[in-house]
Amino acid sequence: MKIFIDNGHGIETPGKRSPDGKFLEYQYNRIIASRVTAELLDCGYDAQLLVPEISDISLAERCRRANAVCDDIGTSNVILVSIHVNASGSDGKWHSASGWSAYTTPGISQADLLAYDLYEAAKKYLVGQKIRLFNGPKEPDFESNLYLLKHTKCAAVLTENMFQDCRKDVEFLQNRAGKEAITMLHVEGIKEFLLSDI
Ligand SMILES: [Zn+2]
Repeated sequence: MKIFIDNGHGIETPGKRSPDGKFLEYQYNRIIASRVTAELLDCGYDAQLLVPEISDISLAERCRRANAVCDDIGTSNVILVSIHVNASGSDGKWHSASGWSAYTTPGISQADLLAYDLYEAAKKYLVGQKIRLFNGPKEPDFESNLYLLKHTKCAAVLTENMFQDCRKDVEFLQNRAGKEAITMLHVEGIKEFLLSDI
């Protein structure tokens, strides 16, 4: 089983930062993606960064890389988790929306099982933080035809790890415990999916 961890954006992606410019999404996603990948490798899983480059790699190329491995070893032997940080505005101001969520494409597939396991792990690791539910605890993940989710053949989930334009979320994300929690919820959610849902 190949586990691809995607880091969302590159150094030149415009916007994608906190209003004070101190928190950069591409950088944060890379920290978490690297840690998640390292933890999974430590546990003996075949995890790999989809984008080792620092520059922004197009969504089409990200999909091409994942799909090439799907074609090679079989779609059911590949999963993809794309790590992001949410934003509620694009006006460069702080906002109040906060919390963690995950996305899959509309309809029910393996990706929904993976998203469910990520939500269960999020509940465990994000105690005291908001978990945003799409449709109650049984169908927690949001559904959207995001390009990366729609154009990859394998089970794919995109996580939005709190909000980069919410002061208290940014504070949480940047402290040591916050980074550990965001890392471990991905590691545990993925492991749970691989152990029980395949
Ligand atoms: Zn993003």
